Amino acid sequence: MLIILLGPPGAGKGTQADRLVKKYDLAYIATGDILRAAVKSGSPLGREARVFMEQGQLVPDEVVVGIVRERLTAPDCTGGAILDGFPRTVAQAQALDKVLGEIGTGIDRVIHIEVDEEELITRLTGRRVCRDCAATYHINFNPPRVRNVCDQCGGELYQREDDSLSTVQERLAVYREQTAPLIDYYGRENLITIIDGNREIEQIFSDISAALEVGSA
Ligand code: ADP
Ligand code: ADP
Ligand code: ZN
Repeated sequence: MLIILLGPPGAGKGTQADRLVKKYDLAYIATGDILRAAVKSGSPLGREARVFMEQGQLVPDEVVVGIVRERLTAPDCTGGAILDGFPRTVAQAQALDKVLGEIGTGIDRVIHIEVDEEELITRLTGRRVCRDCAATYHINFNPPRVRNVCDQCGGELYQREDDSLSTVQERLAVYREQTAPLIDYYGRENLITIIDGNREIEQIFSDISAALEVGSA
């Protein structure tokens, strides 16, 4: 099963992916997490990506396509995977189709999580992320049991630099211009399910699960 989570920054893709990978035993590929780990390690990839990420811009297509190609062909992905935050441009979607053709598989479903812009800003500016396992929380909507401590691994929570208001606004503009066209791209192939993301986490999760189970029946 190959699932794509599509939606603006703050829509809840990571939050839902965390639940979906456990329920369906899928590999998890989040390009943002992979890029942040590269930045932290100071690798050549990280040094290249950092400038784009700090400014809320997209990292060049060739760079992220290379990352995803490598991940999708890794042994842990043979049982299926969730792509979170990739593709983000039409060129990336076309490159993904090519990679999938090479490995002889296809996309089962694209889940598009829709959320109002005002709500996205509230979510992103209150987001906290675990330094160790990248689990995501919100200071009001999804707080950890102990302040600033990850429920899953005990790691320290921090605020992403690109979750500041001005960078969030830039990222939302980038989404509208470069990523939103994917809704039509996948809509044409009848692959997309639209989910109202302006609701409780568990309610959204149950709708996504239902959409995946219909798709696989
Ligand atoms: P969000 O919470 O906005 O969905 P991510 O963690 O997915 O954020 O991404 C953070 C940043 O990493 C993006 O703003 C962008 O700079 C970079 N990035 C992540 N995925 C991609 C991608 N598919 N293409 C280009 N850049 C990406
Ligand atoms: P994305 O991966 O799409 O950028 P996240 O999963 O990181 O989004 O969620 C963004 C922020 O919103 C996080 O702080 C998260 O805890 C919170 N959040 C996620 N889903 C919901 C929801 N349904 N209602 C309220 N807050 C949410
Ligand atoms: Zn953690």
